[in-house]
Amino acid sequence: MLNLRFLGAARTTTGSLHCVEYDGHRVLLDCGLLQGHRKEAFEANRAMPFPAKEIDAIVLSHAHIDHSGRIPAFVKAGYRGPIYATPATRDLCDAMLRDSAYLQAKDVEYVNKKRREQRKTPFELLYDIPDVENAMALFRTLDYGETREIVPGLSITFRDAGHILGSASVTLDYLKWGKPRRLLYTGDLGRGGEKPLLRPPEPVEGVDALITESTYGDRDHPADENVRGRLKDYVTFIAQHHSKLVVPAFSVGRTQQVLRFLDGLFASGAVPQVPVYVDSPLSAKSTEIHKRHPECFNDRIRTMLERGEDPFSFPGLRFIQTVEESMALNSKPGPMIILSASGMCEGGRILHHLKNTVGDPLNLVLFTGFQAEGTLGRRIVDGATEVKIYGEMYPLRATVFTINGLSAHADRTGLTEYARSLGRSVRRAFCVHGEEKYCEAHRENLLSLGIKRVDIPVKGQLFEDV
Ligand SMILES: [Zn+2]
Repeated sequence: MLNLRFLGAARTTTGSLHCVEYDGHRVLLDCGLLQGHRKEAFEANRAMPFPAKEIDAIVLSHAHIDHSGRIPAFVKAGYRGPIYATPATRDLCDAMLRDSAYLQAKDVEYVNKKRREQRKTPFELLYDIPDVENAMALFRTLDYGETREIVPGLSITFRDAGHILGSASVTLDYLKWGKPRRLLYTGDLGRGGEKPLLRPPEPVEGVDALITESTYGDRDHPADENVRGRLKDYVTFIAQHHSKLVVPAFSVGRTQQVLRFLDGLFASGAVPQVPVYVDSPLSAKSTEIHKRHPECFNDRIRTMLERGEDPFSFPGLRFIQTVEESMALNSKPGPMIILSASGMCEGGRILHHLKNTVGDPLNLVLFTGFQAEGTLGRRIVDGATEVKIYGEMYPLRATVFTINGLSAHADRTGLTEYARSLGRSVRRAFCVHGEEKYCEAHRENLLSLGIKRVDIPVKGQLFEDV
């Protein structure tokens, strides 16, 4: 008998953690950090749903921290089983979990300073670098399409989810009352159609039950946003005015996509050549990892990599490593383009670039992704007239733009079409990884396809005999 227990990303988008119980074995689908409000997240991420030693395997859909970021905490608590992931997910996790440990150490230091002042017990670190290293030793890689029995009678296969490098949907094959049965966990789904880097999500056949993400369950991305045309206008503007274009960008995926667009614009002569700086050690590392995994890309990029060409390099592009080099960019005259992290301006080197550029009306700030509530990125996008950076207020005079066309997530139509592509074998579904109203909207989409039963689990809810 296979039971499902939903322990995270239930009626919210972060902290993905779903437990499959099969014939007395426990398998986790993803093991992600809950992000957002600090106090709630601190406590939730530290609460173990059951003893870590009682878990038999972890299956990881992709490297994003809200899917992978709690793995080292489980290892610290005694987990010693295998962690199944694609080779690219493994490599990205090595970089991202280290970065996560580093950021958490800084965060805990800040929180504990306040707690000591309030005479409260300080928080313990969720995990540190040695825990990350112990976790990395437990990874077992599985290519797309390869099937592996992970506990007796239960096999998994990864399919390309087209979301970020190495991202996978997971099919689980098992027996229910002696008959073969297939459960599909979508992980995060990418967009369909032609894309600058990745392939569209891979179809799966014979699915009986579905656990689906619902991030954009109620919305479609704007049609044909002409990313290239808009970037062309921005680069032309800063070239003419000798000013700066600052792009807060996620290290995995978004940075590499923007580089491809810029390369195309420069190579075709559509814009004058201006210096481009990628100023984030994680973005530099992530770009190197992208180059090591031709198997994850669309035909065009894969062919380039197989021919020994570098799709993420062009004249005038530099990856900044040291803090000194990063600071030196502040006093350099424009024109220049700076891509830096974090994507929502919550920390990292993007902060000092914003501090130095937002006051000048000739500078441009370009957001390339969703800005969550409560982040500095969101305040800037929402039209603040001044912003607080490192405790000081700065007037916001630079022009702010947002391009949504690079989203790594399928929209409402994409999610629905993906579910339709599974065919009529799907009898029940669970909507996870979305705010409640988006899960409800996606539930309606699925019911309209003829899926008989669609549940929106709450955290901790158990479904027996799926
Ligand atoms: Zn993701």
